[in-house]
Amino acid sequence: MKARRRVLETVAMTAPIPDLGGREIGRHVGAGPGPTLVAVAGVHGNEPAGIEAARRVFARIERGGVAVRGELVVLAGNVGALKRGVRYESKDLNRQWSEARVAALRSPGWAPADAEDREQVELLGAIEAALGRARGPVTLADLHTSSASGVPFVLFGDTLAQRRFVGAFPLPVIIGLEEQVDGALTEYWTRRGCVTFTVEGGQHGDPASVDSLESVLWLALHEAGLIEGAALPEVRGGYEGLDARRGDLPRVLEVVSRRAITAEDTFVMEPGFRNIARARAGQLLARDRRGDIVAPYDGVVILPLYQGLGSDGFFWGREVSDARLRASRVLRRWGVDRLLPWLPGVARDPERATRFVVHPQGARLVPLGVFHIFGYRRVRERGGALTVERQVD
Ligand SMILES: [Zn+2]
Repeated sequence: MKARRRVLETVAMTAPIPDLGGREIGRHVGAGPGPTLVAVAGVHGNEPAGIEAARRVFARIERGGVAVRGELVVLAGNVGALKRGVRYESKDLNRQWSEARVAALRSPGWAPADAEDREQVELLGAIEAALGRARGPVTLADLHTSSASGVPFVLFGDTLAQRRFVGAFPLPVIIGLEEQVDGALTEYWTRRGCVTFTVEGGQHGDPASVDSLESVLWLALHEAGLIEGAALPEVRGGYEGLDARRGDLPRVLEVVSRRAITAEDTFVMEPGFRNIARARAGQLLARDRRGDIVAPYDGVVILPLYQGLGSDGFFWGREVSDARLRASRVLRRWGVDRLLPWLPGVARDPERATRFVVHPQGARLVPLGVFHIFGYRRVRERGGALTVERQVD
């Protein structure tokens, strides 16, 4: 995904914001104590729409008539890259948030090697300061835009609290996509006890993307409990606007598989798919040197690759029914995943309670869907075995 985005960035039109002040775009401390909403905008420097959206929200709050409890703070993600209008200077700031890396940043004698190292240390400090001031639960939103056109959508790590929160957005919410990348900002803060989500607000440079991200901020303020009353016109209007943009796309989708590709595959996506697009069973999706790639059943194509090189041809997903969501919630509450080690070839990783090791002979017998029900969505190959891991509930 990294290589593909790097190529796309060079063709995307975005305006640099050289007059960006410091990292803090704004902070509003409400009259009474309450929850905290931290929003990060522009962790990719070619995606300034979230900053404009936040400025509108602060301007509206300053005009009065909006009662706020707790604290809203909005931070610029990659200040240097935003000023230059580039995705990043040396490396992707949204792939640097593994436990090991953050621990290294904090170790004595550590010195930044490049621009993103400096950005990360500052951003880490700014978010920790907000957590230190917090007098209630903390929600963290990460605001993005994308190179391709399409409907805005929400990504989140599959924890029950996060599932509940993103239900407030009338946008497609995609379960299991965040787990496809390592070192995302939001995942780090989920492990620190925040409720987090990522929103792709639409295409870079499209004014509608600013509108969508503004709507997301209003809905997040409401859902997190900083402002009251859905009657607030901004909240109601935001909901209606996003609902209209979703059109006939489903509300809840899950990623079933990732079409991994290499340059030798000569992968070519069929034209006409948007960011999220329905496909019928048997429909031609793409071609590679082995022939046609068709939809295995009625489902959804997510993030098709059209420009440049990358390692993800597309993600294949499907709609998740209410019944399935309810069933999975109940099973997880009961802790039925304690029974997973009884499956053939499955063992809990002794080093990490949230991870299972699936031995190859077992993997053929155990469909990964069983793990998905319990939120185990991060599938990686380690030393000849598969590991499946979930975020902390
Ligand atoms: Zn981005």
